[in-house]
Amino acid sequence: MQTFDVAIVGGGPAGSSCAAFCAMAGLETLVLERARFPREKVCGDCLNPSCWRVLERLGLTQRVWGLSHSKLTSVDFIAIDGRKVSVNLPTGNHCELSIKRSLFDDLLLKRACELGAHVREGTTVTALVHDQDWKIETATRERFRARILIGADGRNSTVARLRNLLPRPERERVALQAHIPLPLNFDQRIVLQFLREGYSGQAPVNENELNLCLVGKPSTISRLRHWAQRQFEIPANQRWRTITPLARSSVPCAHENLLFIGDAARVVEPFTGEGIYYALRSGELVARTIAKIISGKDRQSALREFSGASAEIYRGRLWINRLARTAVLSPRVASLFIQAARPQSILDSLTAKIVSPKL
Ligand SMILES: Cc1cc2nc3c(=O)[nH]c(=O)nc-3n(C[C@H](O)[C@H](O)[C@H](O)COP(=O)(O)OP(=O)(O)OC[C@H]3O[C@@H](n4cnc5c(N)ncnc54)[C@H](O)[C@@H]3O)c2cc1C
Repeated sequence: MQTFDVAIVGGGPAGSSCAAFCAMAGLETLVLERARFPREKVCGDCLNPSCWRVLERLGLTQRVWGLSHSKLTSVDFIAIDGRKVSVNLPTGNHCELSIKRSLFDDLLLKRACELGAHVREGTTVTALVHDQDWKIETATRERFRARILIGADGRNSTVARLRNLLPRPERERVALQAHIPLPLNFDQRIVLQFLREGYSGQAPVNENELNLCLVGKPSTISRLRHWAQRQFEIPANQRWRTITPLARSSVPCAHENLLFIGDAARVVEPFTGEGIYYALRSGELVARTIAKIISGKDRQSALREFSGASAEIYRGRLWINRLARTAVLSPRVASLFIQAARPQSILDSLTAKIVSPKL
């Protein structure tokens, strides 16, 4: 059996980015992905402008522009009573785009493959044994072997669960998502709408479709669905994708020969639309660490460096994440803020911080 330098569980943005950068560094790289791509994923489909720098380093900028997309020019924050504050988004090449995850994730995984990573789709990891190397078993009883293992398998990480590292979910919420026909005159905007029962995020993903997300508590989610049916005239039998939990504590990202990236390491509040960036960037950072370990550099210092660099990408942003969480858990309070005398300048500067370029 071949021993890979690195096996990555999960081929979302974190896993694909890691695989692409590992393959670029000449490492024998394996990706094990449960789904068969292209597949959709519960997400607002919005790419924070910071993604561009990582996409450039992946050699993907032009190909991303070539995917069916919407160029987003503003965000509307809408209070429960309908009052609205609009904030402009950056313009130019480093603007905010929305792209269906079926297209974006497929492009990333194909890029990893093109650069030399071995990709196995339709392959669910179910068991792990660690002695000198990692022995990885799948639902179809296939076995793989690798020196370093990466958990890039999202918020309900199987790798973290199998290693007894998965924290309990926090205050439970649930998200629903669907692509529905784009309402007339919707424009190139993101809508973040507070509702009594939770909130809704909306963004056009192309000329014909709107990404519609609903986030609420299990007790309110069916009322949110009914609101969406009335608001967007969608049929009662609309198919929704669903995901839970929305929040949980982070998993320490660096262990002996085992590292976590993207949502598997830290789940951020979806409201600010930054998760894909953190996934891409953490995939890039971990690839450097793996290359150092495989080339025989001091393992402990490489792991410490990765922990520090991972913490750094969230530095100065976690308070925004906490603020967003407080707002969405108390939509009435958030609405009072939007209705208040001067929310414009505060929302302008908060949005500018969220969309400001990062490495
Ligand atoms: C409602 C909502 C809206 C959001 N909106 C946005 C937004 O607009 N912009 C933004 O940037 N972020 C948004 N996010 C966050 C974003 O979706 C995530 O941060 C991002 O997908 C994380 O990428 P990842 O690669 O870490 O994990 P994922 O994208 O979850 O990928 C994990 C992969 O692992 C695979 N996998 C899982 N288990 C196994 C297993 N046992 N074996 C093999 N493979 C496995 C899965 O099939 C999946 O492909 C939103 C999240 C939610 C819930």
